[in-house]
Amino acid sequence: MIELEPVLISALNQYLFCPRRCALMHLEGIWADNQHTILGSLLHEHADEPGYEAVDGVTLLRALPLVSERYGLTGKADIVEVHDDTYIPVEYKKGKRRKFDNDDVQLCAQAFCLEEMFACEVAVGYVFHAASKRRREVIFDWRLREETKRVIDAVRALLRDGLTPPAELKPRCDGCSLRGVCMPEVTGNEKRQCDVYAQSLLV
Ligand code: SF4
Repeated sequence: MIELEPVLISALNQYLFCPRRCALMHLEGIWADNQHTILGSLLHEHADEPGYEAVDGVTLLRALPLVSERYGLTGKADIVEVHDDTYIPVEYKKGKRRKFDNDDVQLCAQAFCLEEMFACEVAVGYVFHAASKRRREVIFDWRLREETKRVIDAVRALLRDGLTPPAELKPRCDGCSLRGVCMPEVTGNEKRQCDVYAQSLLV
C-alpha cells in the first residue's frame, strides 16, 4: 500500500468551512481564538479527557485516537459508543446545525478510521449540538462516503501544493476566528473590495 501523507480529520471540517482557513491553519500554522472557538474548547474539555466508562451496558470511549492507513487520516473521536460490537462515533459541537456538511464529513472520516481499526462496519454516528442539547443522526451512506473521500483528496492536494488560496469575503467570515489575520476585506476578490469600499463611503 502506498503510504499517504496523513491528513488531520479536523482539517476536513476547516476546509469545507473555508479552504483559506484550512491553509492558514495547517500550512502556515496560524491560529487565533474568538468567542466561538473558546466556547468550542470549553465544550470539548470533558470529551478531551481520554478514558472510558460503562453506562447502561454501553461502553463510552472518550478522546479515542483515530488512524486510517487506507485514507491517510489521523485524529481523535470525542466519544465512541460501543454497543456489543457496534461502534458509533459522536462529535460534540457548540452550535446549532450548520448549513454546510462539514460536521457530517468529519464524522464520516471518523467512521472510516473506526472501520479500519476494529474491522467492522460503522453505519451511523451522531453530532451532539450543545446549543439545542440534541443529537442529530448522520447516516454514512455512499453519497457521504464519496464526498468525504473527495474532501480528503482536496485537503491532501492543498497541503501538498503549499499554496494558500485567496480570501473570499462571505457571510461565514463573520464567525471566523482568523478574520483579523486573513483580512478578507483587503485581500479578497476585487468586486467585494469595491462593494465594501462603496459601503464605507455611505456611513
Ligand atoms: S476570514 Fe473568511 S476568507 Fe478569511 S479564512 Fe476566515 S472564512 Fe476564510
